[in-house]
Amino acid sequence: MAYQTINPFTNQLVKEYPAHSNADVQAALEKADALYHSDWAKGDIDQRLPILHKLADLLDKQNEELAKIASREMGKLIEQSRAEVTLCAQIARYYADHAKDFLAPVKYDSSLGEAWVEHHPIGVLMAVEPWNFPYYQLMRVLAPNLAAGNPIIVKHASIVPHCAETFEHLVREAGAPEGAYTNLFISSGQVSAIIDDDRVQGVALTGSEKAGAVVAAQAAKKLKKATLELGGNDVFVVLDDSDLQKAVQVGVQARLQNAGQVCTAAKRFIIHEKVADAFLSQFSDAFRQVKLGDPLDESTTLGPLSSKEALETLTRQVEEAVKNGAKVHFGGKPVDHKGNFFEPTILTHITRDNPAYFEEFFGPVAQVYVVKDDDEIVKLANDSHYGLGGAIFSQNIERAKRLASRIETGMVYINSLTDTAAELPFGGVKRSGFGRELSDLGIKEFVNQKLVVVS
Ligand code: NAP
Repeated sequence: MAYQTINPFTNQLVKEYPAHSNADVQAALEKADALYHSDWAKGDIDQRLPILHKLADLLDKQNEELAKIASREMGKLIEQSRAEVTLCAQIARYYADHAKDFLAPVKYDSSLGEAWVEHHPIGVLMAVEPWNFPYYQLMRVLAPNLAAGNPIIVKHASIVPHCAETFEHLVREAGAPEGAYTNLFISSGQVSAIIDDDRVQGVALTGSEKAGAVVAAQAAKKLKKATLELGGNDVFVVLDDSDLQKAVQVGVQARLQNAGQVCTAAKRFIIHEKVADAFLSQFSDAFRQVKLGDPLDESTTLGPLSSKEALETLTRQVEEAVKNGAKVHFGGKPVDHKGNFFEPTILTHITRDNPAYFEEFFGPVAQVYVVKDDDEIVKLANDSHYGLGGAIFSQNIERAKRLASRIETGMVYINSLTDTAAELPFGGVKRSGFGRELSDLGIKEFVNQKLVVVS
């Protein structure tokens, strides 16, 4: 696929980026592997951490410029792009401040002698990343692994080459040595060849179930570790005792943020029957207030989808859902505009035999289900191939906690949308993938937890 910047608000081609050759791939592998065998990667962590501090400072200093690049390239509202850059700085700073503690030796009491586990880098990693958070996805992999000493080769999504290139420049400007982080504009075939290469020891992929299955199979064939952060079909549960106004307000944000293109976006709204009518009426009112427009215009509240293909896929999914019995409660169509706009949409009456029931809708389309009790909520929530995040709204925290423990996902938030922060683990179960990013757990995914025993 060609690496191109196409403004999703106008669908104008802005710039095309030349692809990297197989010789470029070999050169990148050589540099990364040489760095892995150097004192920089294997030696004291204190040599590496200042790079993350500097990177955080650069991100803060260049926030506005970086935010504009992302908004122009994939359509995120400018305010949300700024927030993403700020979050990236927080992640870099978090690992700069905490990685040394996370990777310190851990003592074990043992009858065999004095025992401890040390943490060492394992080698070059291949990262495959999506466009929806074009900097944050990169930072989730870079920050812990730069701290740990694992050099990274990255294939970013082909629709965000400007973000990919800009991020690589920033990492180098922050002082990362050659080979620590290399962005390559390459094909899936070249990714496969990199995964096959003996110098590569692990693969981190964030993206669709389809890409995850392909890449994880390639890694498994060579017995290499993979982490997968894949899709989701998260529930947003509104109980009969919730603060309805807050649930509606957060629900709108949870569904429409990033034009609905978030893995942990609220996709299935499960509403208790006692509040269903009131919720639907207020939710529709809020959708009616949405202002579509240029993502760089501060007054816009819903931007375009990232690409023409994304709009076509979502349109097809909604049409198919309706053909199979779903009712359009609000919206339901692409917008007659030059960019990739889809109306904020609410679908109801989705039955289990409707393909929409199991599909992830990556855009501003909410599915609403009405339920009678907590058991029905759990049954519906868990009747999904995915298991990423979820949200529960209730003023009875004990009831919400009991429900949270019964929902089969990697994350559940009570009285908030599914969020992310440097210090909290991020990841899912089932077809949402495996492994965790961020926090102390994220930095342990690609390190050799080496036991040493002195008897
Ligand atoms: P995608 O098509 O899987 O693309 C993600 C990345 O994988 C891109 O760099 C893509 O390259 C690459 N890719 C695709 N097929 C590949 C293959 N066979 N071999 C190697 N690389 C391959 O995903 P998307 O549709 O752009 O992103 C949306 C999906 O990602 C949604 O399902 C969303 O839920 C999920 N997601 C998950 C998380 C999480 O943390 N769990 C976060 C964000 C998004 P090209 O661009 O060149 O095709």
